[in-house]
Amino acid sequence: MNDRDALVSPRDMVSSGLCTGCGGCVSLAGGAQARMAWDADGQLKPQGDRRWHEGRSAPFSERCPFSPLAANEDAIAAMRFPQAPHADPWIGRFEAAYVGHAAEAGYREQGSSGGMVSWVAAELLRRKMVDGIAHVAPADPREGAFFRYRIARDQASLRGGAKSRYYPVEMSAVLREMREVPGRYAVVGIPCFIKAVHLACRSDPVLRERIAFTLGLVCGHMKSRHMVESFAWQMGLGIDEVREVDFRVKNPDRPANWYTARLARRDGEVRMRDWWHLVDGDWGSGFFQNRACDFCDDVVAETADISFGDAWVEPYSSDGRGTNVVVVRSPALHRMLEDGRTEGRLALDPIDAAFVRETQAAGFRQRREGLAYRLAWKRSGVKPRKRVAPERRHLPLRRKLVYRLRHCITRGSAVMFRLARWLRRPRVFILWGRAALALYQGLTYSRGRLGRVFDRTEAFLTRMR
Ligand SMILES: Cc1cc2nc3c(=O)[nH]c(=O)nc-3n(C[C@H](O)[C@H](O)[C@H](O)COP(=O)(O)OP(=O)(O)OC[C@H]3O[C@@H](n4cnc5c(N)ncnc54)[C@H](O)[C@@H]3O)c2cc1C
Ligand code: SF4
Ligand code: SF4
Repeated sequence: MNDRDALVSPRDMVSSGLCTGCGGCVSLAGGAQARMAWDADGQLKPQGDRRWHEGRSAPFSERCPFSPLAANEDAIAAMRFPQAPHADPWIGRFEAAYVGHAAEAGYREQGSSGGMVSWVAAELLRRKMVDGIAHVAPADPREGAFFRYRIARDQASLRGGAKSRYYPVEMSAVLREMREVPGRYAVVGIPCFIKAVHLACRSDPVLRERIAFTLGLVCGHMKSRHMVESFAWQMGLGIDEVREVDFRVKNPDRPANWYTARLARRDGEVRMRDWWHLVDGDWGSGFFQNRACDFCDDVVAETADISFGDAWVEPYSSDGRGTNVVVVRSPALHRMLEDGRTEGRLALDPIDAAFVRETQAAGFRQRREGLAYRLAWKRSGVKPRKRVAPERRHLPLRRKLVYRLRHCITRGSAVMFRLARWLRRPRVFILWGRAALALYQGLTYSRGRLGRVFDRTEAFLTRMR
């Protein structure tokens, strides 16, 4: 570190909209000094005494995953996987990639996708390659959150945590536990969290020795906890009545990409709604997105030992049983997958980087051309340092408007939700959301009357040029 002026504090990162809520900084601090707490937008953010919160230090600046002084994903991956036979500008270094699912009974059925995350985690425990898996499991909402990170030390508790949680969680408690309790661990997480884990390991020899594997989840973006409350409103419930949330109910008879949300009430009654019929259910529109995700350039957890996503291409998207794409970077995990294939416990076919990229086409557009455009916008606070260069002239006007609108929906949904809650009028948010969604879908997919207006305007402007 040679530029002390460039050091940043937790407060700098939060106020600049660059905090992903990982909890890495809080795990470094003394228990009484700092904690992760909900902010007004329903995201988890670090809070603490003033000295800690505003203190600009080298250790923090090198460990916060979005700090401009932290090592980037390329540097971390180059150190971790120097022998990787493949290096791709989109998915990073890797040993091999696959499409498929866990064939062994129970995993695919209980997983959000092909059940591969739980299978690999279970196999790590079974082979005694680790003593515990840090992952995200349901929690008691009366204690403040529907989901939390915890360490699963046996098969039953691991399997109880299967499925994707599009809900803010943070790692400070599990990082502390791994530091305090000797053993070998694996961590499951979204790309920015896995990056935070590896940055922590660089400066913390105890964590470096104990965290043996990282299992990355491909990530579109993180949602706010307010999305669950909005889903509850739209299903005729108050958030205090909800006991359990399932973001993706599995139904083998419907395409995998037709998400259905399920909320269970305290009295046992269950309500379900397709995401399509929820105003905030179009993933690409950016409702309730964490602001930091606007500055993310890692789609597939490039620093993880292995990454898992959904195979969002046909015929897999239409297969409601769920299918993973898997990118493996650790030779030990590569051998584990090959053993699983040989033993008939995994149904995986080898694929190349282009196939993986195609399955995440929308995520890569948002994190490459979209990121380049957003980086060119004027903004105050800490300047993010990314592997993508700022560029404002590479996109047609309509595409720029899509990125502008998505950003406005992210910010607008946070504000309108708070207003509706303050007024105790959920309809204020729902009506605003409906209008914002119609505008977004008209602009992006030429849907509806607004879509025709955008198409005609675009054709007119093209003719005038
Ligand atoms: C916020 C978020 C965004 C995502 N965006 C995309 C995307 O754009 N494209 C895509 O292809 N895939 C995305 N995924 C990954 C996808 O939803 C599946 O998690 C992945 O395909 C693995 O499915 P599986 O059936 O193998 O996992 P399962 O066998 O169901 O196991 C999932 C494991 O992940 C853990 N887990 C769940 N949620 C979290 C969380 N928030 N943080 C840490 N660990 C967690 C669970 O505890 C469990 O151990 C996203 C996941 C999350 C959490
Ligand atoms: S991104 Fe993580 S390390 Fe950085 S400020 Fe937020 S919680 Fe702390
Ligand atoms: S999009 Fe990037 S910054 Fe946002 S939650 Fe996912 S990995 Fe983290």
